[in-house]
Amino acid sequence: MQDKPVALVTGANQGIGLQIAKDLVAHGFTVLIGSRNLERGEAAAWEVGPDARALQLDVTDRASIAAAADRIRKEVGRLDVLVNNAAISNTSKPPDMPIAEFAKLTRPSNVSLDEVRTVWETNVFGPLAVYQAMLPLLRQAPAARIVNVSSGVGSLTRNSDPAYPYRSTFGPSYPASKTALNAITLAMAIELESTRIKVNAASPGFTKTNLNHYAGTETVEEGAREAVRLALLGPDGPTGTFSHATLGTLPW
Ligand code: NAP
Repeated sequence: MQDKPVALVTGANQGIGLQIAKDLVAHGFTVLIGSRNLERGEAAAWEVGPDARALQLDVTDRASIAAAADRIRKEVGRLDVLVNNAAISNTSKPPDMPIAEFAKLTRPSNVSLDEVRTVWETNVFGPLAVYQAMLPLLRQAPAARIVNVSSGVGSLTRNSDPAYPYRSTFGPSYPASKTALNAITLAMAIELESTRIKVNAASPGFTKTNLNHYAGTETVEEGAREAVRLALLGPDGPTGTFSHATLGTLPW
């Protein structure tokens, strides 16, 4: 077993996940760059530096998740931080279609159930499956941290407010997948509240990444900040919370 703490970031070959990996390396971690495509993971690990290693991990593929857990057990022998970051926003939006237009095609009345299932498979069942596979390793760490990368657009409280600007885009696919991830975050925190493991959800804010065809307004450094803070929480830090770097605690 190695002395340095180890973090696994899913979907870390690009975007916010890659920046979280860079920041955790800067804080002294060995970081496993989860990537469904190993070559892209290796390229990202090379970019991050010698304390990063690529790990093939497709969060929708049970065999891939089991193999990743096995490799961590055998090759590094510990896991201190899990960041469930991997997600997709949709499977069918043309790149040049504005989000507001796509939202009209993905309302409860007309969204394709296949679209919803595919998005939830990655964004909801993926983090849950990775949690189940990695929990035995996390339990062995002195004080593990789990961070689920969620989104403010999943907040039921905010979407209940007619003044919330993204309200018209709230729908069963991506936004509700983040609502479900929030629910699962709280369930994980409740399950682990008698342990030293803390589980929290981070909202990155509207960040310039491939997920939104680089339409976001925040940099990846800004988008990664809250997830990194939650990954580094000390013993007095909270568990079962949902927060954003500058807005603070968000309502579920
Ligand atoms: P991104 O650049 O598109 O990165 C998403 C990552 O997830 C990619 O590495 C992607 O891999 C990976 N991924 C997708 N499906 C996967 C699977 N089945 N298994 C493993 N990895 C998979 O998007 P991002 O903006 O950085 O997103 C990171 C997180 O922030 C997501 O949870 C997203 O919902 C959240 N978020 C983003 C924003 C924003 O404005 N960007 C706002 C709120 C929340 P490939 O490279 O192979 O596609």
